[in-house]
Amino acid sequence: MASNFLMPVKSDEEILQNSMLEDDPNANSSVTAEETLRPRWGPNHKGAQELANLYSRGKRIQECMSVSVCLTLIVINSLFMLYHIRLTNITTVLMSAFCGIVSADFGSGLVHWMADTWGTIDIPIIGKNYLRPFREHHIDPTSITRHDFVETNGDNFMITIPFLGQMTYLFITSSNQQIQESFSWKCYIFLLCIFVALTNQIHKWSHTYFGLPKWVVWLQEHHIILPRRHHRYHHVAPHETYYCITTGWLNWPLEAIRFWPCLETIITALTGCLPRDDDLKWAQKRT
Ligand SMILES: [Zn+2]
Ligand SMILES: [Zn+2]
Repeated sequence: MASNFLMPVKSDEEILQNSMLEDDPNANSSVTAEETLRPRWGPNHKGAQELANLYSRGKRIQECMSVSVCLTLIVINSLFMLYHIRLTNITTVLMSAFCGIVSADFGSGLVHWMADTWGTIDIPIIGKNYLRPFREHHIDPTSITRHDFVETNGDNFMITIPFLGQMTYLFITSSNQQIQESFSWKCYIFLLCIFVALTNQIHKWSHTYFGLPKWVVWLQEHHIILPRRHHRYHHVAPHETYYCITTGWLNWPLEAIRFWPCLETIITALTGCLPRDDDLKWAQKRT
């Protein structure tokens, strides 16, 4: 049991056989002649090309608006937080911030698992706009490194807007005493929002093997944010584990208690749907 606990979730052999070698400078994931003609991964995969073409002008506008509004709210709330912070309750503040980061990691895993495992691209509005990037990412993992800041972060920034907006409203309308009484909760929500907003940027860095700033590599190597080698485990087909992509701290504990397979068993029993059905369909669109 002890040795099982310490074993890596995917062996080097599984990583080599069932995931794209992103640290190969030529992005040459093909190992046989057949795979060169019908690539399993990468920008030449037919399914990946079809999905990339579904990125629309309307989606781009939504992402630009989300980034602008979210960044404005982050700046406003940061100023309010700095104005109201008191050194006397710094321990509670730090604890709340830590819980916010852990919650963001869990949230990233839950949303990622739902998007990877259930639903199809054909679902109106949600499919083409919000599930499409998840399907594309599995068959062309390095496409994220070619996306600009807006495309990478637009959707995550959008999720935080209602929470950051409500926080600004409360800072403006509450008394000083009310703000102090709820300050730890505000720290929790604020750090949760910041890390949710940063999640896909951190995820993009975990796919970037060349030219990363030294401080990002340092944060990855000390597992403060999602490390590259750690995230490789998720990208081994059939992409059924290690869904948390903010810090990745919860991946191993969730794997140890078989959290995702248990949830999938319950949902399949209730609905009859098979996990990752749509994901597999797109992976097979090789010609
Ligand atoms: Zn995934
Ligand atoms: Zn990834």
